[in-house]
Amino acid sequence: MGKGSVALQSKCANLQIHMHKRTSTAAVIGSGFGGLAAAIRLQAKGYQTTVYEMRDQPGGRAYVYHDQGFIYDAGPTIITAPFLIDELFALSGRKTEDYVRIVPTTPFYRIIFHDGQTFEYTGSEEDMAAQVARYNPGDVEGYKKLVAYTKRIFDRAFTDLADHPFTHFSDMLKVAPDLMRLRSHESVYQLVSRYISHPRLRMVFSFHPLLVGGHPYRSSSIYGMIQYLERKWGVHFAMGGTGALVRGLVRLFEDMGGKLILNSRVEEVTVENGRVSGLRLADGELVQTPLVVANGDVANLYRKLIKPEHRRKWTDRKIEKMDYSMGLFLIYFGTNRTYPDLAHHSIVLTERYKELLEDIFKRKVLAEDFSLYLHAPTRTDASLAPAGHECFYVLSPVPHLGGGIDWDEVKERYAEAILESLESVVPDLRRHLVSKLIITPKDFEGQLDAYLGSAFQFEPILTQSAWFRPHNVSEDVRGLYLVGAGTHPGAGLPGVISSAKTLEKLIPAA
Ligand SMILES: Cc1cc2nc3c(=O)[nH]c(=O)nc-3n(C[C@H](O)[C@H](O)[C@H](O)COP(=O)(O)OP(=O)(O)OC[C@H]3O[C@@H](n4cnc5c(N)ncnc54)[C@H](O)[C@@H]3O)c2cc1C
Repeated sequence: MGKGSVALQSKCANLQIHMHKRTSTAAVIGSGFGGLAAAIRLQAKGYQTTVYEMRDQPGGRAYVYHDQGFIYDAGPTIITAPFLIDELFALSGRKTEDYVRIVPTTPFYRIIFHDGQTFEYTGSEEDMAAQVARYNPGDVEGYKKLVAYTKRIFDRAFTDLADHPFTHFSDMLKVAPDLMRLRSHESVYQLVSRYISHPRLRMVFSFHPLLVGGHPYRSSSIYGMIQYLERKWGVHFAMGGTGALVRGLVRLFEDMGGKLILNSRVEEVTVENGRVSGLRLADGELVQTPLVVANGDVANLYRKLIKPEHRRKWTDRKIEKMDYSMGLFLIYFGTNRTYPDLAHHSIVLTERYKELLEDIFKRKVLAEDFSLYLHAPTRTDASLAPAGHECFYVLSPVPHLGGGIDWDEVKERYAEAILESLESVVPDLRRHLVSKLIITPKDFEGQLDAYLGSAFQFEPILTQSAWFRPHNVSEDVRGLYLVGAGTHPGAGLPGVISSAKTLEKLIPAA
């Protein structure tokens, strides 16, 4: 037998294995980053995978709005740990750069205090130390020690545990001594205050939990790892916007043979004898599949998609007793002039810090003042707006719907107050405004089926982290798995993409 026919035979054998593998099916509910990453991993593992997405576009919180030539990324804009994305492409021997271009941005953030004083937050220890010295030379040593400490947290909490399945209590017990050693009972703010004394620097180094829905005074110091993660791999942006990254992941999934169905709401995860039997879609279609991965809101997965008789752990009562992250109020807007002096990412702080956080998380009232995140993506990619125009979004953390705020009533007034206050950073903004779209927590509830309109699902506090968070393998229904912000390790792109890595360790071979 010649070499050629041996090669052909082995190719056929491979194809047979491939075809044989594809007889196992899997369904993913939702096409957020967690759902897409899970679908890609399932497809790579040999499952014939279908993603059902209820909206008209993939991406979930990374939806894209278009208005008059402005391209607005609705949600995530800061890409950290890009290697997690490269891994998804590498699963099938592909390369990220053939699908989407991801570029580093600097500064990571420009922090602007209420009186105009700024802090350029970058990944360079030297530059950061110089910035710290401008505020308080006495804090430079503390800053260096803080970096060293967040590295220790990062090495354990991210490197070892972000994609580690916490499905048994023993998993938690094993890491408990380390968590105690790392003083995880302390908050991020307490951790920072051990090393830094200047009040403004304490704000600069403790705001990171807000990026994943946490209150800096309540989130475990474990979340201090976020600042180290940014430092280690940098802050990045996808050219064409985060929407381009979503499209790249969808194309990768489809190139691998997977199927995405849009405008397809799952109404029920059907269960027989405690095990998944399939899905019931809004149009009445019944899909049979033994393996379902849920990427949508976890509270509403259990409350709405799984009948109460199949739920022993995640009862409505238990879900209602959990603490949920804040909501977000967003204005997407465009101007008919550019602002070359702006940074791509700015954080515009009001004077109040702890008290404003308490208004948002505890008292759940809409404060008169606000701290804002301002996104100006045209500073990196001018193609996101018509020539000579600037594209923005501004985000204000606000109480979730549990606060009872009537958003229809207050939204225009609140938006106007935000835009007015932004004029100090974006001069004459309202005179040059040509496009505007407002999204409130009510829209998160209506468009994403987010329980209480929460932007990040369960609040990242110690008692709702790791084993205490809904597990990646359902505690109630066999054959049901969970990925995304509401499960381990939590919100943010590194978190939800890592949840799909955990999933891969838990599912059986196809
Ligand atoms: C405004 C904003 C800014 C953010 N900025 C950043 C950032 O800069 N960097 C960062 O890392 N993170 C950021 N985050 C957090 C990050 O975006 C989220 O944690 C992450 O995108 C959530 O992904 P997910 O996998 O949980 O899915 P989601 O994005 O929540 O998507 C879930 C999907 O499931 C679908 N779905 C739900 N129920 C059903 C159903 N019954 N049937 C069919 N489909 C269903 C939904 O339509 C949705 O598409 C931001 C979040 C917000 C809101």
